[in-house]
Amino acid sequence: MEPIISLHNVTKTYLAHEEIALHDFSVAIQKGQFVCLIGPSGCGKSTVLKIIAGLETPSAGTITRPENISMVFQNGALFPWLSVSDNVSTVLQAQGMTKKEARKKSGEYIDMLGLGAYTDKFPRELSGGQRQRVGIARALAVKPSVLLLDEPFSALDPKMTHELHLDILKIWHETKITIVMVSHLIEEAVTLAQDVVLMKKGSLTETFPIDIPYPRHERGASVLSEVEKIRRVFFA
Ligand code: ADP
Repeated sequence: MEPIISLHNVTKTYLAHEEIALHDFSVAIQKGQFVCLIGPSGCGKSTVLKIIAGLETPSAGTITRPENISMVFQNGALFPWLSVSDNVSTVLQAQGMTKKEARKKSGEYIDMLGLGAYTDKFPRELSGGQRQRVGIARALAVKPSVLLLDEPFSALDPKMTHELHLDILKIWHETKITIVMVSHLIEEAVTLAQDVVLMKKGSLTETFPIDIPYPRHERGASVLSEVEKIRRVFFA
């Protein structure tokens, strides 16, 4: 089957930055897959995500990607002056929906993320986890075929992180969407993803298929042994 996303020998050098951010990086992601990119800070994870999103262009190499891709950033990246409902419906109106249709549709996604009681609140009135949920609702509302998550839980406490892990897995199971997520936590990657892609210094070091049935338990023996296996290569 043709992959939904493929990067072939992608190299990326940023202007005004001498080091190569990505070097001959290749990866193929199948439709419906949940892939997690991990690796030390600065190894090029976000660059891969931005290239997939179309926010950066490769300096060399080729990329295949669908058009309808949504990205969720670390802090939700909400418009502070808009209510929860307007944060979500704005992107739908930008796609041509009327205000009324957009409000109705955004309500469905706000409910899906458990934020029904917060529709008219503003971002400053929400917790970090709730803000992140709005970011996810907004990303999903445009019905993307790929959801990109850039360390979406890094600013949250462990309880909120756990709840959002469950939400993301539920959404993934229900919508069959393709998910590519960046994380700096091996435990998180192994708990969520089917494939964990380890990067170092702009290159792909190893892909670890995680053959553990869902639901996975972060402290379960099979998860811990997989984490240990990856940790050995991560710190080698
Ligand atoms: P990671 O997400 O793994 O922390 P990044 O993809 O953000 O890594 O960065 C990879 C390398 O590219 C780093 O050395 C970083 O400093 C550099 N870099 C990232 N974005 C830019 C940019 N917009 N301009 C210049 N250099 C950048």
